[in-house]
Amino acid sequence: MSLRDRVKAHVAAVEPYQPGKPIEELERELGIDEAVKLASNENPLGPSPRAVAALHAQMESVHLYPDGACFELRRVLSESLSLPGDRLVFGCGSDEILELVAKAFVGEGDEVVYAWPSFAMYPIVVRGAGGTPVEVPLDGSLVHDLDAMAAAVNEKTQVVILCNPNNPTGTSFGAEAFDRFVATLPEDVVLVVDEAYCEYARRDDFPDALGWVARRPATLVLRTFSKIFGLAGLRVGYGIGGPELIDLLERARHPFNVNRLAEAAAVAAWGDREHVERARRVNAEGADYLTRELSGLGLEVWPTDANFLLVRAGEGVYGPLLEQGIIVRPLTGFGMPDCIRVTIGTAEQNERFVKALRRILESRGGVR
Ligand SMILES: *Cc1c(COP(=O)(O)O)cnc(C)c1O
Repeated sequence: MSLRDRVKAHVAAVEPYQPGKPIEELERELGIDEAVKLASNENPLGPSPRAVAALHAQMESVHLYPDGACFELRRVLSESLSLPGDRLVFGCGSDEILELVAKAFVGEGDEVVYAWPSFAMYPIVVRGAGGTPVEVPLDGSLVHDLDAMAAAVNEKTQVVILCNPNNPTGTSFGAEAFDRFVATLPEDVVLVVDEAYCEYARRDDFPDALGWVARRPATLVLRTFSKIFGLAGLRVGYGIGGPELIDLLERARHPFNVNRLAEAAAVAAWGDREHVERARRVNAEGADYLTRELSGLGLEVWPTDANFLLVRAGEGVYGPLLEQGIIVRPLTGFGMPDCIRVTIGTAEQNERFVKALRRILESRGGVR
């Protein structure tokens, strides 16, 4: 008997996650040292200096296990969010919290409803748990079609995941549509609202998902230290939910899933509001700049509430951009071969990207 015969069929069916190309890999391949990675929605400003200092201070203590309860991070977050500590769960990235939800609530015959295209981890997590993904297409503006999603919920639905703002489109839905959707959802279906990019959102009517947790305890809002807080390499995310939901997720969690360095850096990064504010400002300026420039090249650009843009740049620009030292995310795997997702970088990185793309389009005679 081979491993292929022994493996659980639902695990073998998982399509592995395709990460953005690592910057070191491209630099090795091209023999250069100034590649730009605009592929994984990382913070172009780097981590807060306060987080770096906290890491240094913690280094001598790595022979000690972390605090399995994340006491300090829990204290700081519950204070700033005005929530009791038992509303919080921490994970090795918010990816891990998605896994906890699946482990606790999803098995064979269970359906999980989410929009598509959306975050590539959702099908991986659902299939990996043996569940059935129910992918509801985004509407014509590439926004969550919440009415269609509500219609997709049935007695087999265990979990609904909403990604707001949505990755990889950058689009978002507003409070009115969200409130209407939540009101129709059976109260025992777990609602996950993945807000990995919410700190970047600029629309005035961005939904208050956190506010719903008190009224609808089977709601879990997912946030992360990987994006605006600039700690993607350390892996810390958190979930905010009703106390019973959090208690159940705690049972699925490994005791030391957030390491000492990660917790210390997250506490420090949370306290550095200035760094977060600067990241938000640089991102907003970059979004406006890129939208203007790319539209000027005659390309379709979707409105974004996140730190990346969806651009219809035409097929086959990913490779030529790589050759110029710029890594973006191709969306071929999402059935959008003529689109790329580009992370908003520093002003200098954005200019390099626009220049490189313009050169490629001009060489094809495509710039209007
Ligand atoms: C980046 C991202 C996350 C966060 O992942 P981490 O595991 O916290 O690094 C979660 N959801 C979406 C939609 C993302 O794009």
